[in-house]
Amino acid sequence: MSSPFAAWILRTADDSVKARPIYSRFVSKLDRAIVRVLPAMPRSLVRRISNRYIAGTTIADAVRVVRDLNAKGQMATVDVLGEEASGRRETQEIVRAYHDVFEAIARENLDSNVSVKPTSLGLNLALELCRANLFKVVRHAAESGNFVRIDMEDSTTTSDTLELYRELRAEGLDNVGIVLQAALRRSFRDVHALAPLRPNVRLVKGIYVEAPLVAYQEFEEVQDNFVRCLDELLEAGSYVAIATHDEHLLDEGKRLVAERGLSRNEYEFQMLLGVRELAGNRLVRDGHRLRIYVPFGEHWYEYSLRRLQENPRIAGYVASDTVSRLFGADGT
Ligand SMILES: Cc1cc2nc3c(=O)[nH]c(=O)nc-3n(C[C@H](O)[C@H](O)[C@H](O)COP(=O)(O)OP(=O)(O)OC[C@H]3O[C@@H](n4cnc5c(N)ncnc54)[C@H](O)[C@@H]3O)c2cc1C
Repeated sequence: MSSPFAAWILRTADDSVKARPIYSRFVSKLDRAIVRVLPAMPRSLVRRISNRYIAGTTIADAVRVVRDLNAKGQMATVDVLGEEASGRRETQEIVRAYHDVFEAIARENLDSNVSVKPTSLGLNLALELCRANLFKVVRHAAESGNFVRIDMEDSTTTSDTLELYRELRAEGLDNVGIVLQAALRRSFRDVHALAPLRPNVRLVKGIYVEAPLVAYQEFEEVQDNFVRCLDELLEAGSYVAIATHDEHLLDEGKRLVAERGLSRNEYEFQMLLGVRELAGNRLVRDGHRLRIYVPFGEHWYEYSLRRLQENPRIAGYVASDTVSRLFGADGT
């Protein structure tokens, strides 16, 4: 029973996460099969499956979802869907879309910041293009008192992304944060190298399937590195967004912030829209701050497909989650 699907069966049996999904080496045949048939699935079906993970296609959809989250005492980070822009004009549309998002957040008085993918701003086209676009987005955010989280994409983009972050900070723009991926072997070194900046960091496992040379492959190795990086970041006085749905890491996160006596404003937890909502509600009930990642946009289909194709493990999660809902289980 090594697939995420099997993990679901065990979880619904006793409401605990006994079996853990395992990394690429163990991505199940079922997960891969799901990914293979996806492009043949009717768009409407993919839409129905991805509905719970994506706010919708328009800013109004994102505003509605963020308002609902805020009403539940949860914060949000809005992501305009679009990655690997294929031309300059596309990147400018993304910049404009973020501008509109900042206006909507201010107008509607929402508790939300934004997350942005460097490749949607042109990182794979030209570094200067991405730099110019990113500076614009971060300056727009500063004008409306908002904050930009630069998402981290696959490991070929890590160095450029961190360099752009340093450049923003060197310009005195402090309303910006980065993401570090526990799966990457380099991340612990990055924690140290960035420490003098006391960066605002979202710590994640990392969604991209990476080669053994650059990334840990075993589930427990990634967990261990997550805890190591979190401990070190907190020690350096960084504000950390602990972004995970993994019960063990949620517990470790709670333990480490409690050990340091941090107040609720000195860290936050983050989760993805539609994933482990009950666990998120529990965090909030226990007094922690929780921010939900809210993607929206026209490119929902490409986004859903690419995410699943990049990491078939996610397809397993989604399939098990969908089946559990069909059978009335609530998914912790
Ligand atoms: C707010 C936020 C922002 C992120 N930003 C980035 C980023 O910038 N770069 C990056 O590489 N990665 C990012 N990620 C993704 C992250 O790297 C992991 O791939 C993802 O969070 C799953 O890892 P986990 O720690 O939740 O643990 P896992 O062990 O993978 O998941 C724990 C449990 O959560 C559930 N689950 C997890 N993910 C899903 C899903 N997609 N659908 C349904 N159920 C799911 C399953 O029940 C699973 O058993 C982000 C994650 C979050 C929460």
